[in-house]
This record gives sequence, C-alpha cells and structure tokens, in this order.
Amino acid sequence: MIDISIIVPLYNEEAVFGQLIQRLTSVINNTAFSCEVILINDGSSDNTASLIEAICKEDSRFTGILLSRNYGHQLAVSAGLANVRGKKAAMIIDGDLQDPPELINEFYGLLTKGYDVIYAIRKNRKEGFFKKMAYSAYYRLQKKISNFNIPIDSGDFSMLSRRVVDNINDMPEQSRYLRGMRAWVGFKQIGYEYNRDERQAGETKYSWSKLFELAFNGIFNFSDFPVKVIARLGFFTILFSLVYFAYNIYRRIFYNDVPQGFTATILAIILFSGVQLISLGLIGEYVLRIYNQVRKRPLFIIDKIVQDGKEKEQ
Ligand code: UDP
Ligand code: MG
Repeated sequence: MIDISIIVPLYNEEAVFGQLIQRLTSVINNTAFSCEVILINDGSSDNTASLIEAICKEDSRFTGILLSRNYGHQLAVSAGLANVRGKKAAMIIDGDLQDPPELINEFYGLLTKGYDVIYAIRKNRKEGFFKKMAYSAYYRLQKKISNFNIPIDSGDFSMLSRRVVDNINDMPEQSRYLRGMRAWVGFKQIGYEYNRDERQAGETKYSWSKLFELAFNGIFNFSDFPVKVIARLGFFTILFSLVYFAYNIYRRIFYNDVPQGFTATILAIILFSGVQLISLGLIGEYVLRIYNQVRKRPLFIIDKIVQDGKEKEQ
C-alpha cells in the first residue's frame, strides 16, 4: 500500500533530472512510510520524456505520466493529482530542487497531527530584486482583494491529505490556480517556513507570459473585486458630477463667471460616464454569477458528520 505520492511536474528538465532522481530516491529509501513518485512530462522538447520512461521501468516506485503537449505547470500538477495512489497524502514539489524533498518527513509529522494542508512559506527568495518586489506586491494585493484568505508567499510546494486531493480533483474548473483552490477547500491548514533553494540546474521554465497568466488566474478566479470596482467607480463618478454641478450653479449665480453651455456639457460627459460605468458593473455582476455557476465548484465541503452517536469522517 502506498501512503504518500510525490508529484513532480517536469518541463525540459534534463539538466537537473539526474540530481532530482538521486535526491528523491534517497528520500523515499529512508521514510518510515511508503512513497511513490509521479513524474509528469509536460510536453518537453528535450530528453526529459525518455529519462522518465527509463527510471520508471527500472524502479517501480516511479510512475511516469507523459502529457501530449505542454499544458503548463498548473495543469501538469493537476494531471499528477488525478493519478495519486497514495492513501494518505500527496506532496507537490518543483522538479528543479528549489523545494527540498527531504521536508516530506516534517510535513508528514504535521499531517499525522491532524492537518490536511501543509503549505510551505518562502522565508527568502533567490530571485532578482525586481522579481522579488513583483512577487511581494502581487501576494499582498491578492490577499487584500481575494474573497477568502490565500496565504502570502506560499507556492505549490505542499502536502495535501487524501481528502483534499479528492476535493481538488472534483473541481472541474479550466483555469487552475492550485494554491487558491487548495486554500478554498479549507480544513486545518498550516504554513511551514523554509528557505527556498536556488534552481540546481537549467533555466527557469516560467516565462514572463506564463507567470502573468498564473497571476491573472490568481486574481480573477478568487476575487470579485475587479468587477465590483467598476460599479463603485461609476457611483463615485456620478456623485462627483452632481457635486461639480452644484458648484457650477453656485459660481453662476453668485459670480457669473461660468461660460455659457460649459456646465451642461461637462455635466453630461461626467454624469453619463458614471451611468455607463454603473451599467457595466451591473452586467459584470451577472457575468460573475454565470462564471461562478459554470465553474461548478462544489457548494461546500464537509469536514465530518456526527450521526447515530458516531463521528463519520468524510
Ligand atoms: N513546469 C512545467 N510546465 C511548464 C513550466 C514549468 O511543468 O510549462 C515545471 C518545471 O519543470 C518545474 C516547475 O514547473 O519543475 C517550476 O518551474 P520553474 O522552476 O521553472 O519556475 P520558477 O521556480 O522559476 O518560478
Ligand atoms: Mg524553479
């Protein structure tokens, strides 16, 4: 019986592959529980796929999932999650060894203490100054505007209990932001601070465009704010136009220094801009509702039921 599945998405990672397998093998040789490793080839154009096939044929604790093309990190991890055989939990790590797989023991300890999600928090980052600032600003913005709490500075490196894996697998949403979905599931979650290592070999596989897509998914999948802000903007525009109108009438009556037709023109522009923004916001509200409906997230997730005098775990 397998206890824990370790999920590793790989996209053109032949440079780091040898080291990765070495580290993983020594980790799973020495755990008190049984592990499988799920290696996902996310449509690599280098030798990664054949390296995966070779190790999986040699050591049955390794499973290879070869995707038909490059789907991106989040979907590669989702493919791994959909194939977890571990009865207790799954751990997600990056293939470039920035996330030390040795932490599996600490994470497992917290799992046995009753935590369903153990997510790693990056104490330090090895990225350049600009990227660091961008990450920091992004996580803080996201925390402010998301509908519920997504922890700051946590990535996909985490351990998820079996029921959390099952719940995430039950969410058929297309654009996936796993760290948000993980937080959305709920249960007992705990952060674990660690020092993020440098990539051990090769170059980053997250292009800027992939990074932006991830960031947008994080905002739009978990926040209504961008839509709600339109209606609010419209409301304030209308309010402003009315105040401005009153002020102009006052100048007109007491100072008579407002040119003919000016007030009416400006008022029409501002007032109707406001009306348009509010209308867009209203339509946006309907779009949000449609979006929430078609996304088909479960309505709620039950932790436990106490029935007939007994606790029933879900
Ligand atoms: N990755 C993937 N598909 C992609 C891009 C990246 O499976 O389209 C994998 C990659 O091989 C690595 C992990 O996702 O195991 C994280 O990528 P990377 O380390 O390049 O991101 P960074 O740490 O630079 O943000
Ligand atoms: Mg990396």
